[in-house]
Amino acid sequence: MSKSSRASTTLRQPAELAAHGFVPASDLPELEKVAARYAVALTPAVAALIDPNDPNDPIARQYIPRAEELFTHPGESADPIGDHAYSPVEGIVHRYPDRVLFKLMHVCAVYCRFCFRREMVGPGRETALSQQSYAAALDYIRSHGEIWEVILTGGDPLMLSPRRLGGIMADLADIDHVKIVRLHTRIPVADPARVTDDMVTALKVEGVTTWVALHANHPRELTNDARVACARLTDAGIPMVSQSVLLRGVNDDAVTLEALMRAFVECRIKPYYLHHGDLAPGTAHLRTTLAHGQELMRALRGRVSGLCQPDYVLDIPGGHGKAPVGPNYLSGQREADAEMRYRVTDYCGDVHLYPPKA
Ligand code: SF4
Repeated sequence: MSKSSRASTTLRQPAELAAHGFVPASDLPELEKVAARYAVALTPAVAALIDPNDPNDPIARQYIPRAEELFTHPGESADPIGDHAYSPVEGIVHRYPDRVLFKLMHVCAVYCRFCFRREMVGPGRETALSQQSYAAALDYIRSHGEIWEVILTGGDPLMLSPRRLGGIMADLADIDHVKIVRLHTRIPVADPARVTDDMVTALKVEGVTTWVALHANHPRELTNDARVACARLTDAGIPMVSQSVLLRGVNDDAVTLEALMRAFVECRIKPYYLHHGDLAPGTAHLRTTLAHGQELMRALRGRVSGLCQPDYVLDIPGGHGKAPVGPNYLSGQREADAEMRYRVTDYCGDVHLYPPKA
């Protein structure tokens, strides 16, 4: 493959990816089949990060389609974390009592090859909630006083215009019991120029506290432009957390994970979740094992400060929610004198006894 020419627009077709040197032309017949099933989009900001001469480029692995995606492995499912089972009205997922997902739209700036909603996002699917469905979703939130937090997700909510987003934020702020609105987004990485002053102003409304969760999986994604976009949010007083997915060949080594978590903290983004890869169809080549994930979390514990530690979590298939699946540092042990003692493992792997009643 030759070196890529710089993309000035979002690349959506396999032929465009080939023209820019991101895939060999010989792969096009297979990749056309992938693109017919799962959306493809590579923004100029992300395209600029990819080294087309590196067949294992960790950014390319996240966004460039591969023929492996055509194979659905046993256990993989179109709705791997069970959104449908917990959706009382269109656009709402109410899995935990105090919070809902509010899925406003089904488009993103980029389409991630591992996305657990890959069957629901992208062109060809419904792009956004109709006005009627939006009103019904708001009514649902309004009539459930236990809902403290609304999580805007999708699709990517920052694909909406500041004007539209401002209206939605105001609608949510009008509901007394909603105190937190959290937006999950990849925009600061995928299209940092969208994080304008108008966008930041739209996110800050009286009556609710806004949090932004940034999705990034490799330290190279936190470019200078991405950092400036995040700083626009944090400077405005919007707290940020991170979410990442553990991906084979992208971030499944301690050095990369460490650099990613440090980069988040440097940007005033608290590492929040490291997700184990979901059982989305055609994503087996990107998943690691849980045992490897735990090993990496153990390594991270010894290498970086507590500020840089995310929770390693698994979304239990079927919609049963998230479970922390990181390594366990505490176990019980009954001694010869029948007294139970705790065994605590330190970050070097050494085990220490701790009295049960101290
Ligand atoms: S930005 Fe989020 S919702 Fe969109 S494709 Fe990527 S992971 Fe899926």
